[in-house]
Amino acid sequence: MTMTNNRNSWDTLIAAAWQAREHAYAPYSGFQVGAAIETATGTIYGGCNIENVSYGLTNCAERTAMFQAIANGAKDFKRMVVCADTPEPIAPCGACRQVMVELCPQIEVLLINKSGKQILTNVENLMPYSFSDFPKKTENDEGDM
Ligand SMILES: [Zn+2]
Repeated sequence: MTMTNNRNSWDTLIAAAWQAREHAYAPYSGFQVGAAIETATGTIYGGCNIENVSYGLTNCAERTAMFQAIANGAKDFKRMVVCADTPEPIAPCGACRQVMVELCPQIEVLLINKSGKQILTNVENLMPYSFSDFPKKTENDEGDM
């Protein structure tokens, strides 16, 4: 799902994350997660968790959103929303945090649950002392992310 956010408010991005959650493929856990990432120019890419019978191949909503954005040529990211129907807002898993460090280390991250409880954080807070200082070899990998 791709949308464009014309305002500076989080509302559109939050709505996109909840909408993406509707597409969650979670037949094994029944636990649906949504995410949406916004580029600096306001384009939004949604993501949902996608489970697999072998469990380990499950892809989280956050990574689905980031991978969809990258696959569509997006590069410069501004913020992300992660949502689920949990008592407290849920936080990205370690794998997603490592991917965030790689693809969008500068973004703000808003965690939100169904009752509207929110935690605003950022990648640096989510993943301190991350493994990120490894030389890149190709021109394609460089950039101002
Ligand atoms: Zn994850």
